[in-house]
Amino acid sequence: MKVKFWGVRGSIPSPISGKAIRKKIEKVLSMAKPSDLLSSSSIEEFLESLKFSMLNTYGGNTTCLELRDKDNQLVIIDAGTGLRELGNSILEEGFMNGRGRAFWVFTHTHWDHLQGIPFFVPIYIPGNLFDIYSSVQNLEEKLKYQHKSDHFPMPYEGLSSTKNYHFIPEGQTFELGKNLKVFSKSVRHPGGCFSYRFEEDGKVFIFASDAEFNLEEMENIEQYMEYFQNADVLVFDTQYTIDESLKKIDWGHSSASIATDIALKANVKKLVLFHHDPSYDDEKLDTVFLRALNYKSMMNQHHELKIIMAYEGLELEI
Ligand SMILES: [Zn+2]
Ligand SMILES: [Zn+2]
Repeated sequence: MKVKFWGVRGSIPSPISGKAIRKKIEKVLSMAKPSDLLSSSSIEEFLESLKFSMLNTYGGNTTCLELRDKDNQLVIIDAGTGLRELGNSILEEGFMNGRGRAFWVFTHTHWDHLQGIPFFVPIYIPGNLFDIYSSVQNLEEKLKYQHKSDHFPMPYEGLSSTKNYHFIPEGQTFELGKNLKVFSKSVRHPGGCFSYRFEEDGKVFIFASDAEFNLEEMENIEQYMEYFQNADVLVFDTQYTIDESLKKIDWGHSSASIATDIALKANVKKLVLFHHDPSYDDEKLDTVFLRALNYKSMMNQHHELKIIMAYEGLELEI
């Protein structure tokens, strides 16, 4: 499996401001020594030594991922604003002239997981086929609602591709094409949400965003541990810092330290911190990442768990 992240932000898109870019430039310039600027290779070396936030941005688009199985069959996960650019990137794969085919999986229907649909070019082109799988009940009705004329000028009926909806009750295994076995699990979130576990040739990818975990209080935590067990990659909702998560109980999100606890207990190989809070700038997200690394080494420095931050454009091979 391969995964690409097109939207990693929670709640609302949060584009980087010009002021923030200027601040980054000021900081980088103030750190450079004359010897760093002598040649293109010394400049390159200097740039490589900087923290992620100084040269990059984690990205402002909301949840959307591209998953590919070993035959390059496309599975889209959710439809936040990251979907718009994903759509443009696949036009050459047959989606431009109505020969595209993709599976699509939805976790829930909060805005930040839906708002890319009206700007997803392939969905307007007749002939394209989307097989939509979800444990969300009445998903089609919920997606249609976003296209009521009060909200968007193009009605749902104007999305001329073919869309087949498949409702899968929670916990029932289903297949996406020849290669992927998928399993859904309900997670605690206002209005409900589902996590999905994808398996191909013994490799496991789990997407678990919009999920509030509290290891102290949760009675049924064992069944989740079983669900997360031995995942090669676990994408997890870490919207808040631990202090904030204590203030925002029942808001439906978790923190990086809880995610790390779960990943360590479930023997996960790689944990991806995801669904970044829209109020956190790149520098703060660097801090969230560092704190997660420190927390992991404090809890179990010998565990081989790798922790990474999700950012727009991140690609993983599983
Ligand atoms: Zn969300
Ligand atoms: Zn949500």
